Amino acid sequence: MEIHHRLLAESAEYREARAAIENATLEFLAADEVGRFPGVAYIPVVVHVVYNTDAQNVSEAQITSQIDVLNRDFRATNPDVSIVPPAFSSLVADSRVEFFLATTDPAGNPTTGITRTKTSVASFGSDDKVKRAATGGVDAWPTDKYLNIWVCQLSGGLLGYAQFPGGPAATDGVVCTHSGFGLGGTAKPPFHLGRTATHEVGHYLNLFHIWGDDGTGCGGTDEVADTPNQGGPNTGVPTFPRVTCNNGPNGDLFYDYMDYTDDALLVMFTRGQAARMEACLDGVRRSLAQTSPASRRRPAGSVVAWDTNRLDAFVLGTDRAMYHKWWNGSSWGPSVTGWESLGGICASPPTVVAWGPNRLDVFVIGTDSALYHKWWNGSSWGPSVTGWENMGGVCTSAPAVASWGPNRLDVFVTGTDSQLFHKWWNGSSWGPSLTGYEAMGGTIIGEPRVVAWGPNRLDVFVTGTNGALFHKWWNGSAWGPSLAGYESLGGVISSFREGDGQPAQQPVVPSQQQGTQMAAAQS
Ligand SMILES: [Zn+2]
Repeated sequence: MEIHHRLLAESAEYREARAAIENATLEFLAADEVGRFPGVAYIPVVVHVVYNTDAQNVSEAQITSQIDVLNRDFRATNPDVSIVPPAFSSLVADSRVEFFLATTDPAGNPTTGITRTKTSVASFGSDDKVKRAATGGVDAWPTDKYLNIWVCQLSGGLLGYAQFPGGPAATDGVVCTHSGFGLGGTAKPPFHLGRTATHEVGHYLNLFHIWGDDGTGCGGTDEVADTPNQGGPNTGVPTFPRVTCNNGPNGDLFYDYMDYTDDALLVMFTRGQAARMEACLDGVRRSLAQTSPASRRRPAGSVVAWDTNRLDAFVLGTDRAMYHKWWNGSSWGPSVTGWESLGGICASPPTVVAWGPNRLDVFVIGTDSALYHKWWNGSSWGPSVTGWENMGGVCTSAPAVASWGPNRLDVFVTGTDSQLFHKWWNGSSWGPSLTGYEAMGGTIIGEPRVVAWGPNRLDVFVTGTNGALFHKWWNGSAWGPSLAGYESLGGVISSFREGDGQPAQQPVVPSQQQGTQMAAAQS
């Protein structure tokens, strides 16, 4: 809001644009009809990571977890919406907006939707310097086609700020401090659930603070009819009901994303707020929304066959838990359209391998970037149906897994220093240890691929920072060309894995290898 008020004071042009947008919003709402398409608005996002220290160069997992939070929050599919008291639950709205990392850059080339820029600026303020290359940041992608989100170190405890529609094109978008962005990685409690971005994107789609931005008075309005009149912002963890401005008995709606409470309490938009955002996407931000998710990066899954006429498929649900279904030769289990929930809150697609009949091993990255494992032994899931074995690591890619023989597994992941890491199951124990990894060198983009064409043989393929394909192999007794070496196979890979083919500057920070617990509270 600080930015909004500065622009209003400084620019007559902005004042007029804002007045026109408010009038269009009122007209849209008064018409009481669905002006834009009745479905979901899909918004392409580019995340600009501007880092001064390597730790601030947040992982792809942290970024995609933020996109997923936005998608749950703007569709009201966030599980923690359940904390809203019955007195307010009828106000909860599905805003019908979804977000995806852009798959095409402004020049029409494939992209991960992420840019990474090293800066000499130790921290940024709300003065938009992060939005310009000339001032230590990075220029926006065309703001009429992309939602630009800058992630950097903000100063003075500022979590984020946004530009309302109607402002200058060059600075349009949202800024978040890295420690208040996404799940896991550098995100720190109590702003570790991705709600700063939800709040700022709310502003970006023309929502005001729920208390009306009049200090602590009762005269301000957020121009939304179904939000209670509220004194000032709420912070921390208030207790329901908190009555201000004679708004009893239910009091303030401090569960609303447009308040200032801790992330764990920010769980809803109201119907009135959803209507204002719809007006914005029908009007001033119309060029941003796509009507079909055609170019959206689809959630990946994994399928394996351990016998003739047998299939086991694993996917992630919208709650990021893993789901399983199987074909037993005559029918689908648990049913044609049903899924077995295997629990977890996953930050990567699952990878599954079968080293023998009626045996499955499933690997996934958790929200803390550690590797997790579960297995089917022919009669039950280990460690339990919804439980997972923590295998440590701080992974920046989905796992790649191969089995070259019965009771043998080899797992490969990319670490935070972009090196390849390896661990293996030899039939009785994990090497080098349950949570330890063997470093295998390289500076790689995206996830590795591994295949075993015979007993005691592995071939591993990775994409280098120059976009070329690199290869290494295990011949039964040694790694070729060496433990940390790679054979270059040339080319510039763009199809190895969807969206991961673009050469990009990669982080180089020491990889931590201690295990941490899967954050069950995160969702
Ligand atoms: Zn705000």
